[in-house]
Amino acid sequence: MLYRNYGKTGKRVPLIGMGTVRFSPETKDFSKNVGLVLRALELGINYLDTASTYANGTSEKILGAAFQEHRTRDFMVASKSMLSMDPTADDVLRRIESSLKTLHVDKIDFFHMWSVLTLEQYKKIIAPGGPYEGALRAREQGLIEHICVSVHCSGAELEQIILDGRFDGVTLGFNALNYQHRLEGLCLANSRGMGVAVMNPLAGGLIPQNPAYFQHLRRDGGTVAAGAIQFVASHPEVSTILIGVNSERDILEAVEALENAPPLDKRQWEEIAGRLPVPAEPLCTMCGYCQGCPAGIQVSRLMGAYNEYVLSNQDETHFHEWRKMYYGAYPFETVECIKCGRCERKCTQHLPIIHRIQAINEICGKEADKQRVLCEKYFPSTGYPKTGIYGMSIVAETLLKAYQAFYGAIPQQTYFFDSNSAKWGNRVFDTGQIIHPPEDIRKLGIERIIISAPKYERSIRAFLKDYVSEGTEIYAL
Ligand code: SF4
Ligand code: SF4
Repeated sequence: MLYRNYGKTGKRVPLIGMGTVRFSPETKDFSKNVGLVLRALELGINYLDTASTYANGTSEKILGAAFQEHRTRDFMVASKSMLSMDPTADDVLRRIESSLKTLHVDKIDFFHMWSVLTLEQYKKIIAPGGPYEGALRAREQGLIEHICVSVHCSGAELEQIILDGRFDGVTLGFNALNYQHRLEGLCLANSRGMGVAVMNPLAGGLIPQNPAYFQHLRRDGGTVAAGAIQFVASHPEVSTILIGVNSERDILEAVEALENAPPLDKRQWEEIAGRLPVPAEPLCTMCGYCQGCPAGIQVSRLMGAYNEYVLSNQDETHFHEWRKMYYGAYPFETVECIKCGRCERKCTQHLPIIHRIQAINEICGKEADKQRVLCEKYFPSTGYPKTGIYGMSIVAETLLKAYQAFYGAIPQQTYFFDSNSAKWGNRVFDTGQIIHPPEDIRKLGIERIIISAPKYERSIRAFLKDYVSEGTEIYAL
C-alpha cells in the first residue's frame, strides 16, 4: 500500500481508504462486515471513514467490533457530525462521546463538519455556540485530533472555506466526471497544507456501469473502475481515496488498480482527461442525501435514471429501461412532485431536481400518449377478437400495464403463450392469468396472436404459419 501525507498534520495515510457507507446494514451481515474491516487493515488500509448514520447506524458498530478484535491502535478513524443533526456545540460533543463509545476508541483522528453544501450552512457551523465550537472543545479535551470538513459546495464557496483556514483536512467528491469543477479546490486545499480525502471516486458506480462511455479511462487492459481510481490517484494533492466497500472484491480491486499501473504523469493524465466525454448536464452521484421526499418520490433513484438519459444522448428507450430498473416505474407513469424544494436544498450536486422531474414527466407523458394509441389499436372499446400474446416481453407488459392503468383491468379475453416450457403455468404478473403452451392456441379458440418477442419474431411467425392458414391473424408489437 502506498502512503501519503495528510496535509501538514504529520499523519501518513494509505492512498486507498475504506468508506463504510455502503456496508450492508442487515444483522446477518454484521460479522461479514467486521471481517471486511479486518481484511482491509491486514492490507494496510488503515484510514477508515464512518459516520453515526452510515449503513443505517451500523457502520460505527461494525468498526467498533473490528477494532476490538484487531487490538492494535495502528489505524486512523474519521467520523462526522452534520449541522442538521447536531446544530449546537453541546450536540457535537454528545455526538463525539457517543461515537467514541461505539467505536471503542479514546480518540477520533479526523472529525468532520459533515456535508457542507452552502456558505450559509458553513456560517451556521462556525457561528458562536455552533458545531465548530463543539469540535474545538472536543479537541481541547483530547477526544478528537484533527478538525476537518466534508464539502459539496461550488468552487467559489469551497475556496472561501479553505482560505478561512479553520480545518486540517477536507473530504470532497472528485472523479473522472466532476474533476473540472473540483480540481482547483483540491489543489488549493493541498497548497494550504490541508489533507485531502477523496470520496466518490467512481461517481456512485456510474463510471463502472457505463464502461463504453468511460472507455478512455481503461489502461493496459484493466477495467474502467481501475482506470477511474488511477485517474484520481495520479494527483499528488490527493492524500487518500475512499472506496465504498461492500465485499472483499471491492477492496482487492482498488488495491490492484494501484498495484497494476503506476500513477499517470501530468501529460498522460491530461491526454486521458481530454478524451473523456463531458456530460451535457451535471450528473447525480447517487449519494442519497436527498432522501425524505414528502411526496414519497425516491429522488436519487429517479435522478440515477436521468443520468442514463444524459449519458445515452437523450435516448428515451434507454432511459425507460433504466428507470424501470432503478425506479420500478413503467414508461407511461409520471410522478407527482409537489415542488417543495426539500431535495434540491439537500442535493450535494446542486441539481435542478424539480426541473428534471418535469422533463421526466414530459418524456413519460409522451409514452402514455403512445400507449393509449396502442391500446385503442389492439383493444378498441367496440370489441376485438380473442387474443393471444405470444412471448411476454417488456413491450407487452408495458402495454398491458398501461391498459390496466387507463381502464382499470387488463383487456378481456386475452391469453398468454410461450414456446419455452419452463414458463408454462407461470403467472403473468398480477393478471391472474398463466402462460400457456402453444398447443393451447387451438383449444382456447384464439383468433388473433400478437407477437411480443422482437428477437424471436421470425421464428415465431414460421412456427405459427399453420394457424395463419386457418385464419388466425398475426401481429407483432
Ligand atoms: S421537490 Fe418534489 S421531489 Fe423534491 S422533495 Fe419536494 S416533492 Fe419531493
Ligand atoms: S439528487 Fe443530489 S442528493 Fe440526491 S442522490 Fe443525486 S446527487 Fe445525491
